[in-house]
Amino acid sequence: MGLHPKPRDLNKVFTDNPLELSTRVIDECAATEPTNRVTNKLSELTDGIAMVESFSHMIAFKTEEGLVLFDASGKQSGVAVVDSLRKWDTSRVHSLAYTHGHLDHVGGSGAIVADAEKRNFVPPTVFGHENVPKRLARYKDTDGWNTIINQRQFGGVSPKHGMGLTDQSPSFVPDDTVWPDVVYQDEMKLSVGNLDIQFNHGKGETDDHTWAWIPQSRTLITGDLVLWVFPNAGNPQKVQRYPLEWAQALREMMTYNAELLLPAHGLPIEGTERINRVLGDLAHVLETLVADTIELMNGGYQLNDILHMVKVSPDMLELPWLQPLYDEPEFVVRNIWRMYGGWWDADPASLKPSPRGDLAEELALLSGGANQMAERAEKLAEEGNLRLACHLVEFAATADPKSKTIHGIRAEIYRLRRSQESSLMSKGIYAAAMRESEGLAE
Ligand SMILES: [Zn+2]
Repeated sequence: MGLHPKPRDLNKVFTDNPLELSTRVIDECAATEPTNRVTNKLSELTDGIAMVESFSHMIAFKTEEGLVLFDASGKQSGVAVVDSLRKWDTSRVHSLAYTHGHLDHVGGSGAIVADAEKRNFVPPTVFGHENVPKRLARYKDTDGWNTIINQRQFGGVSPKHGMGLTDQSPSFVPDDTVWPDVVYQDEMKLSVGNLDIQFNHGKGETDDHTWAWIPQSRTLITGDLVLWVFPNAGNPQKVQRYPLEWAQALREMMTYNAELLLPAHGLPIEGTERINRVLGDLAHVLETLVADTIELMNGGYQLNDILHMVKVSPDMLELPWLQPLYDEPEFVVRNIWRMYGGWWDADPASLKPSPRGDLAEELALLSGGANQMAERAEKLAEEGNLRLACHLVEFAATADPKSKTIHGIRAEIYRLRRSQESSLMSKGIYAAAMRESEGLAE
């Protein structure tokens, strides 16, 4: 998943042709208009290959036996995406491949099947990695949790649930989502009509990712391994991501010297040099984050120390394909720690902590009361030290949870904090805290 920082601009498209835009953005290393577009509009990129730009994209190949699709887009965009597809081609959808099991990639599958029924076509065969059904099963087991975190994750940029991923569905996974008919383990070859497809498993944002190679047109289909934002390898509210394996998949893609790259979010890319430039930059930041974090882990540092020591060069973060608008490097460092270490942050006091209310009350007592702490938090926020201000206001609100005054201060601090963050993930969590205190301050 990826988003432009100003969602109100998501549909402000100046350059119609996404390849023309990506060529300009990469050659000039600057984005003058949004690169993650959610227009539900189809562009034919080359003869018989099309992309519908949505959340997420659908990619379509014409073959003699019917259409081959990559990803179904989400529940809310599925019908619009299928409509755009049908204006381009009305033949049967022969095969649908999922790049992974995230809901913005599989949630629109019900619309594809409904379209097949309407046209009296046999529904498509659905392909995916063997971990896709395991993911969908896990979503059923953690339905409440996933609904809560997605509302919080996307709630910082869009009112209510944001992006319409789940808001009209009673369960996190829409009931009409189609599970894969055919799964594979490491790689699989498939031929449909004149189209040969090589599916490759790669871990990255998820453990169920497929990237594909189409030899005839020298095309790579990357799924979310290319997002046109900083790699989503650190999401604070979700299961383990795989930064080094992600980089390895990108490096392997580079060996193909592709001529066309089709991601699931952001712009398609044309030309081997451009493609390998972007893939190489993405791989480089991930490899560097892993190496730097592990070096400090080997040196015996605590997680908190490492979070403040490991940085990605600001020049890299300004590149239009690496901006931390969705995830951010600090969160990736945490994921690396969790992957190679464990959940404990190496602070002895945090191994078996006291109830948070007890600690907050004790600190409030020491500092002259919860109000004093909240006032100090306000002062720190005014001075620009929002990291410290948030700690203090959390202690104050925990020590005196009924205080409207403290919640008023807490709401203001998180409003300010949200406004200064670039990543959707930080904005979402801070906005949720802000709204919680706004409700309690009234
Ligand atoms: Zn996605």
